[in-house]
Amino acid sequence: MLLELNHIFKWVTTGGRRIFLLKDINFKVEEGEFISIMGPSGSGKSTLLNVIGMLDTFNEGEYTFLDTPVHQMKEKHRANLYKEYIGFVFQAYHLIDELTVYENIETPLLYKKIKSSERKALVADMLDRFNIVGKKDLFPSQLSGGQQQLVGIARALIGKPKLILADEPTGNLNSKQGEEIMELFKELNKDGVTIIQATHSETNAAYGNRILNLLDGGWVKS
Ligand code: ADP
Ligand code: MG
Repeated sequence: MLLELNHIFKWVTTGGRRIFLLKDINFKVEEGEFISIMGPSGSGKSTLLNVIGMLDTFNEGEYTFLDTPVHQMKEKHRANLYKEYIGFVFQAYHLIDELTVYENIETPLLYKKIKSSERKALVADMLDRFNIVGKKDLFPSQLSGGQQQLVGIARALIGKPKLILADEPTGNLNSKQGEEIMELFKELNKDGVTIIQATHSETNAAYGNRILNLLDGGWVKS
């Protein structure tokens, strides 16, 4: 088992009333799975991915990641777990504007104790793999949406994560770019990387070996 969520609830309180963002989520993910989460806008897909990715907390329930109880963990320990095992691909790229393409991709390696020469080689491999060698000294604002997403994916992959979380990764791309990214995920998954993606697209969802539906913060029974 890679991860397990048991009775996860997340809410915000406004005017003394609880508004549930996640309602009694149970979820087991085995290593090597490719899971697609669908659901209308506002159904909680991003919230759930952020919880799984340890970028956001929850109010109730238990979350176990590689046999480690995430719900009992201090923030720093959680952040370390994230850095070691998880690559996150955001819909809106989340690149650092002040850093070049090269520096953005290198970022996750700076958190790990990897020598400068090895970092250089790893970044060069990624630039090559994504055909963006010529863009390495540009800043995100100088790239198209598709190119920025490639940089975002290169950054997510460079640390060789066990788990990739992708929040509508092709939402801002044209269909050809989207297909390329799905094919890339398929290849990574073949190599053993676990993938959980949120998507609106039936075509993209079909790349997964399991499709789950969210509505109002809870699973839709199927
Ligand atoms: P999705 O990704 O499926 O579109 P989200 O996870 O972004 O859905 O949001 C789920 C619901 O929770 C939405 O109604 C959103 O407005 C609400 N929401 C998300 N974050 C917060 C927050 N911090 N405070 C209040 N409401 C929030
Ligand atoms: Mg979302």
